[in-house]
Amino acid sequence: MPEIQHPRDVIVRVTRSCICGSDLHLYNGAVPDTRVGTTFGHEFTGIVEDTGGAITSLKRGDHVLVPFNIACGQCAFCLEGLFGNCHESNPGATAVGGIFGYSHTTGGHQGGQAEYVRVPFADVGPMIIPPDIEPDNAVMLTDVVPTGYQAAEMAGIQPGDTVVVFGAGPIGIMAARCAWLFGAGRVIVVDELDYRLDFARQYAPCEVHNFHTMKDPVLFIKKATGLGADVCIDAVGAEAAGRAMQSVLGRKLKLQGGSSTALHWAINSVRKGGVVSVVGVYGPTATMVPFGNVVNKGITIRANQASVKRLLPRLVEHVRSGIIDPKALITHRFSLEDVSNAYRIFSSKLDGCIKPLLIPPT
Ligand code: NAD
Ligand code: ZN
Repeated sequence: MPEIQHPRDVIVRVTRSCICGSDLHLYNGAVPDTRVGTTFGHEFTGIVEDTGGAITSLKRGDHVLVPFNIACGQCAFCLEGLFGNCHESNPGATAVGGIFGYSHTTGGHQGGQAEYVRVPFADVGPMIIPPDIEPDNAVMLTDVVPTGYQAAEMAGIQPGDTVVVFGAGPIGIMAARCAWLFGAGRVIVVDELDYRLDFARQYAPCEVHNFHTMKDPVLFIKKATGLGADVCIDAVGAEAAGRAMQSVLGRKLKLQGGSSTALHWAINSVRKGGVVSVVGVYGPTATMVPFGNVVNKGITIRANQASVKRLLPRLVEHVRSGIIDPKALITHRFSLEDVSNAYRIFSSKLDGCIKPLLIPPT
């Protein structure tokens, strides 16, 4: 049972908690300093149970959605809107800010795949769930919607652009959907799982391709687009990189599929002067990037953890108006006690799983 440790803390009783593709990097051992005894989970909603002395914006009983990044709201980075890079929530780190349940590399904060969780800087992150936002949509606003949206935003999509998204997980599917909001003229999603591609085709909607049907994904995209894609989005991250890293690390990671990285494909199939937007998460280990091509093609690479708090107001409006319907991605529901089974199904991409939701006992 977590306790208030600071006047700006609240304790939240979790009502919903998702498993994210990012959790699979922890699960597969791709993130260092993942200590035994740390609870995973950074996508959750819940009821405020207790509040620290400095909290005036929330009271016991409020139903909140909690952004996955922990942000103080006052450091130079938060003031710039870079809530994913907060300096105070992960003291001493030079890159990422604090994240719930995401190893000691992101501050060692306990996560929300639990009955209760301590929320630091609770006067900044949590948002009271508007009464007309359904609970399943609220939990998807903690990460999937902002991350997919920011992938498209960072890509600087110009009207009519051809956008290629690598990865048809929840993040890639959401990025494809959001690409249209920025004026894309054509959206193509690439993955190896046909059930996810089928979902993306309907939901985004978009063209889809299974990379196993391509002899060479880079040539395929160049041929399909003429000059290359205007924008490529990496919504895969360490999963694909991990495959390439297996031989380097000299041990087998629990990863499936092809042998190249989505980031590599993105850089090589974007047109000269194009943009590669990376929301896929990578550990600090070296990721082989064909940097000569980045320089010689004049590519812009933009990447970050999503700045959830900055994006929430406009994304709540998009969900409210129905432009984005994130709950449609939740394919599986498990009780929290069944979490091991949920991880097994999600990580092995069994049973048509796109997004699993955990519900703690009430
Ligand atoms: P997921 O594991 O459900 O989906 C990843 C998909 O990528 C799978 O469908 C897989 O088949 C596919 N894939 C694997 N290798 C590929 C390749 N070479 N080309 C194309 N597709 C390939 O994960 P998710 O929840 O959708 O998350 C996707 C990525 O986004 C992860 O790296 C996750 O850590 C990251 N993420 C980032 C942020 C952020 O703020 N930047 C937030 C959430 C998630
Ligand atoms: Zn997540």
